[in-house]
Amino acid sequence: MNSSNEQTLGQLPLAERLASVSAGISAAVADAGRATDAVTTIVVTKFHPASLIEELYALGVRDVGENRHQEASAKASELASLTDLSWHFVGQLQSKKARQARQYASVVHSVDRPALVSALDAAGGDFPPLPCFVQVNLTDDEGRGGVQPDGLEALVERVLDAESLELWGVMAVAPLGEEPRAAFARLRGYSERVIALEPRATRISAGMSHDYTEAILEGATHLRIGTAITGNRPSAG
Ligand SMILES: *Cc1c(COP(=O)(O)O)cnc(C)c1O
Repeated sequence: MNSSNEQTLGQLPLAERLASVSAGISAAVADAGRATDAVTTIVVTKFHPASLIEELYALGVRDVGENRHQEASAKASELASLTDLSWHFVGQLQSKKARQARQYASVVHSVDRPALVSALDAAGGDFPPLPCFVQVNLTDDEGRGGVQPDGLEALVERVLDAESLELWGVMAVAPLGEEPRAAFARLRGYSERVIALEPRATRISAGMSHDYTEAILEGATHLRIGTAITGNRPSAG
């Protein structure tokens, strides 16, 4: 999608942007020769008010994504009456917030270090097992989110040992300045390494507003799409 398309898209009402992105996803899934139900779309609603999530819910959206604990927690309690809405946590999570995150998160996409695995597991209590993705860093910059590929197996083993966590697969963000398809092809290779350890951990969380087509072509099962659906985010403040 080029930037002029996007600006046009940004001025449409929410329902039209959602329909337009859904059509784009369906076309990409068909191009990839994949089953129509092979892909789940998570609408990333960070920085937007809870009222936007209510609008999305009325349009049929049941999976939303947030990347900051305080904000996610506040919105989830405000919208607690929407009991079939799933909250996907996609951002950096401090270990000391793990217990609180388990109160609302249906899925955590950003498990990136052993300490977070331990904290999430210790907070398991009476909760059903928490689905998790291990986030892989596709850049050489250690400061970016995600485990470096050479630490993937060790982290995966930790998640598999955690009784209250259920490993769903791998997650990544395509690096800036690299063709996204090449980055997602690497991610697919990491997914295969994870499947070798746990054959049920087949899911791949990848693809955002600008690169979901490439992600679908490389096997993404969970798309995390923000601005293409929500319009521009209000500033972080
Ligand atoms: C914000 C965010 C997204 C959505 O990004 P868009 O470019 O707005 O689609 C996806 N994944 C993560 C981890 C994010 O933080």
